[in-house]
Amino acid sequence: MNKPKKFPEQTQTQPGNEHEMIPTPKLIRENYKGSGKLKDKVALVSGGDSGIGASTVLHFAKEGAHIVLVYLEETKDAESVKGKVQDMGGKCLLLKADLSDEAHCISCVKACIETYGQLNILVNNAAIQFPQDSLFDITKKQLQQTFETNIYPYFYLTKAALEYLVEGDTIINTSSVTAYRGSNHLVDYATTKGAIVSFTRSLSAQLASKNIRVNGVAPGPIWTPLIPASFNDIADFGQDTPMGRAGQPSEVGPAFVFLASEDSSSYMTGQFIHVNGGEIIGG
Ligand code: NAD
Ligand code: MG
Repeated sequence: MNKPKKFPEQTQTQPGNEHEMIPTPKLIRENYKGSGKLKDKVALVSGGDSGIGASTVLHFAKEGAHIVLVYLEETKDAESVKGKVQDMGGKCLLLKADLSDEAHCISCVKACIETYGQLNILVNNAAIQFPQDSLFDITKKQLQQTFETNIYPYFYLTKAALEYLVEGDTIINTSSVTAYRGSNHLVDYATTKGAIVSFTRSLSAQLASKNIRVNGVAPGPIWTPLIPASFNDIADFGQDTPMGRAGQPSEVGPAFVFLASEDSSSYMTGQFIHVNGGEIIGG
């Protein structure tokens, strides 16, 4: 196998902009065919402007869903995704909001209901990460910001959404391979991703009898704005996986479709799909 090309050096700060990335991430394969798996469903996707969230939005739209796309501040990326959803015949409401504030989470769910009259799929996906080589470099401020962004909104949005979710609806949470194998330079981030696994499992048990399914996706290294915006040395990003390369968002989105679709995953709750280039996850 040819060695994958190195990613070119580039500098961004969080949240990164997808339109500035080289090469541009692939969000959906040109030949992806929808089959109406999510026809007339409404999905709210946090961090839906770029990367894995944007891929999820585009795959959901291909499957016939309408979208509420929540993003922090990357309006150009969000507008671009909205345009693509509209080109597929879908509707896409853009909401710019800092989800670390519970009031904003409640407003986003309210706006979804006011616009579409329903909410069927909640995708908790927004996150940040600030690598530090030593635990002693993780300041209280960073610790709070990481938890307030990566895990608290999963509670806030879910609480707000549960007022409207009914039998057959789903919640999908983005975790990470770092939750399962740890990360020496992302200790606080990996801890929030572990919390997301426990949150998913616990909530699934609480909601199983209502047939509201709660599952998650645990990606490995995926080429998204988070990567050049948080890591300095990205040349070999993803090459330490068994497949020897980073994944594209387009390779993750379909896992969200599978978990969102009653046709595909009706007997699954509390589970994670590991889209990580071949790293075997135990336990
Ligand atoms: P991304 O930068 O494209 O997406 C993260 C999004 O989070 C941003 O678009 C931003 O708008 C949003 N966001 C950040 N702070 C926010 C806030 N306070 N309020 C509202 N929105 C906020 O990067 P991505 O890699 O696609 O990340 C999506 C998810 O995938 C994250 O949960 C991340 O932890 C997870 N993940 C990514 C990788 C990877 O290698 N890229 C690996 C494992 C897990
Ligand atoms: Mg973004």
